[in-house]
Amino acid sequence: MKILIKADYILTMDENDTVIEDGAVLVEDGIIRAVGRNLDDGEAYVIDDRPAILLPGFINTHTHIAMVGFRGLADDMELMDWLKNYIWPAENRVVNEEFIELAVPLALAEMISTGTTTFNDMYFFPDITARITKEAGMRGFISEGVINFPTPSAKNSREGLAIAESFIRNWKGDELIHPVMSLHAPYSCSGELIIEGYELARKYDVPLHMHVSETKTEVQQIKEQYGTTPVRYLDSLGVLFDRFIAAHSVWLDQEEIEIFRDRGVGVAHNTQSNMKLASGVAPIPDMLEKGVKVGLAPDGAASNNDLDMVDEMRSAALVHKVHRLDPTVMSARQVVRMATIGGATVLGIDDMVGSIEVGKRADLITVSLSGFHMMPIYDPYSHLVYAAKGSDVRSVIVNGRILMEKRELKTLDPEKIAHNAKVLKEKILNALR
Ligand SMILES: [Zn+2]
Repeated sequence: MKILIKADYILTMDENDTVIEDGAVLVEDGIIRAVGRNLDDGEAYVIDDRPAILLPGFINTHTHIAMVGFRGLADDMELMDWLKNYIWPAENRVVNEEFIELAVPLALAEMISTGTTTFNDMYFFPDITARITKEAGMRGFISEGVINFPTPSAKNSREGLAIAESFIRNWKGDELIHPVMSLHAPYSCSGELIIEGYELARKYDVPLHMHVSETKTEVQQIKEQYGTTPVRYLDSLGVLFDRFIAAHSVWLDQEEIEIFRDRGVGVAHNTQSNMKLASGVAPIPDMLEKGVKVGLAPDGAASNNDLDMVDEMRSAALVHKVHRLDPTVMSARQVVRMATIGGATVLGIDDMVGSIEVGKRADLITVSLSGFHMMPIYDPYSHLVYAAKGSDVRSVIVNGRILMEKRELKTLDPEKIAHNAKVLKEKILNALR
């Protein structure tokens, strides 16, 4: 099937940040075949959302998608209080296969309708998440979150590792689903477990995904336990490599940033989650200056409280300016790069997606310019970051398949999702009673 997508501005996000005005992208068999002006193809199905911007789909580099079930359940508290007294007990009582079945379509619908085409998930029952994601047509990096205590899916870390390994074997090589090895964090996994997780990641050549240096409390705890900081500790275990995805990475000093760069570690910057839990402001401008790979991420919806990458871009652009009292840091274009090709580089799929270039897979979105808040337009990067809303996303294509057209979801049932959100709420309230 051929698809021709027309737009007023095409942000290719290629090496030169090429912008094409009044152009089109031709897609055939899931691959971008042509990009330019005056493209026409009589046989192609035309998507014309003009006035609109066309750009690569957003890449969410760190999330826990099924946590949409806990959206707004517990707000306004610190990470350790939030995790230990609310999220972990709630998860242990209520998260099971049925919970995942109910929650995942809601998260996918939210992500598609705000322009995300790829996400990197750490949670439980990954086989169910993978099956639903594949049916919905999204690109998912999916994993079992392994940790040193009982979880909804595993009695202990041994069982967790076994689930993680069997999931990786089940899905390795799939066109849309990329299995990942996930370890929760340096403070919740023993050194032995971290090394075992690393060895599995190397054995199957998959990314290793972990929360790292999220809060000051974590840094203090690791210092007391191991006499050094989280990044140095992980480096001493020998587990940092070019497929390591470090979520948060808020409390890094300059030397730790250099360790990340030298080992090829990618960082998932969770701006809003770090703000909401008052974890701190990650030194992202320093990371970018030193050449660390950085992508954007909303984290789970319980600590954000949405999965909207447009919203995330705006926060990322703003927070560093006020934090450094310098309006020149984190330009709009730099932030759009982090949300697209930057994220693809963090996940190791920048040869496949993340920019609009001939030969790449067609993961594309259009953003409408028809809202009053988008008029007039001088600079499309500026509008995407400082003016757009997630709801301005009009059409979404993943791997050449149309998942949303003119805001109508093509692979998910919105009525069923809305009904199941209520079922989910009842289940959670009953379990907590
Ligand atoms: Zn997280």
